[in-house]
Amino acid sequence: MKKWMLGLAALMASGSALALTPWQQISHPVAGSAQAIGGFANGCIIGAQPLPLNAADYQVMRQDQRRYFGHPDLLAFIQRLGNQASQQRLGTVLIGDMAMPAGGRFSSGHASHQSGLDVDIWLQLPRQRWSSQQLLKPQPIDLVSGDGKRVRDSQWQPQIASLIKLAAQDREVTRIFVNPAIKQRLCDDAGSDRAWLHKVRPWFGHRAHMHVRLSCPPDSLECKDQDPPPAGDGCGAELASWFEPHQPSAKPGKPVVPPLPPSCQALLDNHFAAE
Ligand SMILES: [Zn+2]
Repeated sequence: MKKWMLGLAALMASGSALALTPWQQISHPVAGSAQAIGGFANGCIIGAQPLPLNAADYQVMRQDQRRYFGHPDLLAFIQRLGNQASQQRLGTVLIGDMAMPAGGRFSSGHASHQSGLDVDIWLQLPRQRWSSQQLLKPQPIDLVSGDGKRVRDSQWQPQIASLIKLAAQDREVTRIFVNPAIKQRLCDDAGSDRAWLHKVRPWFGHRAHMHVRLSCPPDSLECKDQDPPPAGDGCGAELASWFEPHQPSAKPGKPVVPPLPPSCQALLDNHFAAE
């Protein structure tokens, strides 16, 4: 079948609710040496690789979605983290969405995950590996109380904090997003070893997973890093502001879609012209 027909079929399957972005119609990585391009929320990737799906130290959820592509640095990070978690006997590391084969924008769900440097990792560490059925329909565990103010003690495990800490101590990780209540719990329990908390940032949602972001690989010349997080462990006033009545709010209205980085636009033009 021609690519445009696949695209059409996918469009029709999605119904009228949400049209797919062109990126969701690209089924394979774009060949080339690996380049993360643009920003995390407006970018793409050349030379992405699929995360190996059969691995001793992690499991990949919702493989049918094919969102397990990323920059080789991201694959290496996941393997490194899985290794360390298994050495510490934390349990099975569950990998959620990374990026689509060429990265780019999703029609719904993620704003970022666009340049192959982001991965969602669940904050539950089953002792036994999941069956393929469980991996296809994973059940998230909501770690945060209904009022959003604290983690549920019944669900919290010290292994979760250890996993977040391992990720934060990785030199290639630049930011980790978790729910403010989870950050608060990490702050409360950290003791004197607190430098790693710097990278752990409070954000909306993220009640059952952490979102890990790598910094731009040095040879990805068109990759745009964010400013580093503010100095300090982030456990003070800034975190407290999330629990005040007028907490920071998500941007209202429809987000404005910025123009694509030129290299990402060229990638799309080439891809769809080749059909
Ligand atoms: Zn994410």
